[in-house]
Amino acid sequence: MMCNTPVYEIGSLRGMADTGNRFYIKREDLIPFSFGGNKARKAALFFKDIDDKQSDYVVTYGSGSSNHCRVVANMAAAKHIPCLIIMPLETEQDTMNMLITGLLGAQVMACRLKDVPITIDNEMQRLSAEGFRPYFIPGGGHGNLGTEAYVQCYQEIKDYEASEGVFFDYIFLASGTGTTQAGLVCGKLMNSDNREIVGISIARPNPRGRQVVVDSVKEYLGCKGIAETEADCAVTFIDDYILSGYGAYDEDVTACVNSVMHEHGVPLDCTYTGKAFNGMQKYLIAHGIAGKKVLFIHTGGAPLFFDYLKGKCR
Ligand SMILES: *Cc1c(COP(=O)(O)O)cnc(C)c1O
Repeated sequence: MMCNTPVYEIGSLRGMADTGNRFYIKREDLIPFSFGGNKARKAALFFKDIDDKQSDYVVTYGSGSSNHCRVVANMAAAKHIPCLIIMPLETEQDTMNMLITGLLGAQVMACRLKDVPITIDNEMQRLSAEGFRPYFIPGGGHGNLGTEAYVQCYQEIKDYEASEGVFFDYIFLASGTGTTQAGLVCGKLMNSDNREIVGISIARPNPRGRQVVVDSVKEYLGCKGIAETEADCAVTFIDDYILSGYGAYDEDVTACVNSVMHEHGVPLDCTYTGKAFNGMQKYLIAHGIAGKKVLFIHTGGAPLFFDYLKGKCR
C-alpha cells in the first residue's frame, strides 16, 4: 500500500495567534484503508510479511477500543485470512472499533490481562498443531516493521518539505507504544536533520515510556547497521499530559477536540490525537516557543471520534 498522505497548512491556532507559530497537519487518518491511521500504515508492512512467509492465520492482541485490532481484522478479511484477536476482559467494551471488528468476522478471545502472554502462546501452538502457519502481530504493530513504516512516513515529510520549500522545526504526535515516534526519530537520525520530534505520551509515564522509544530506535538502527549513539538524546517523550493514564481526559481535551473540529473540520479523539494536540499547545506555551513551523501528525482513530460523540470517550 502506497500511503503518501497529504499535509495541510492550518495556519495559526485560536488563542495562539500571537506566538507566530504556523501549524500543519499530516493526515495519516486519510490513509485509504479502514479509516486509516498509523495502525493502517504499520499493518500494511506486517501483511506484506505475511504474504512473503505465506502465513495463513493472523493472531494479534489489543483492547476493546483498539484501532490496531480493527485495521488488522479488516486487512485479514480483505485477504481472506482468518483472524484471532486476544483481548483483555477488563477492556472489552461496546466501542465503534469493536463493532467494526465484529462486522469483519474476526474471532475475539477474551482473557484476563495477566493471562494475555500465555494465551497468545497457547493459541499459536494450537493453530500450528492444527496445520496452520499462524503469524503473530505484536499489539499496536510494535517492532521493527512498525518502526519501518514511520521511517517511510518521515521520508514523505522530507519530500513535502522539498517540494513546498518549508522546513518543520517541530513534529508533534501522540505516543503510545512509541513505535510511530521511533520510526520518525530513526528517519531524522538517518538524515542528520536538526529538528525536534516531540512525542506526547497518552499513557506511559517516564522514565519507562521514553526508554521504550529509545530501545525501538536502537533496535531498528542496529538491524540496519547504523550507529545508534545519538538515539538517547534524540527522543523527547513528554509525560506531562497523561492525566491518570490511558483513556483519561479532561475538559481541556474535549474543548480541544471541539475546537479543532469547528475551526478546521478535522476530527480528533480524547484517547490519542485530541490529547496530544492539546498537549502540544500546552507544551509550546510552557516552553515559550514562537515563530516556528510545527507539524502535527494526525495518527488516525476516527472511530474513537464517534465514541466521543456518543458520550464515551474511548
Ligand atoms: C496506536 C495509536 C497511537 C500511538 O501509536 P504508537 O506507535 O503505539 O506510539 C497514536 N494515535 C492513534 C490514533 C493510535 O491508534
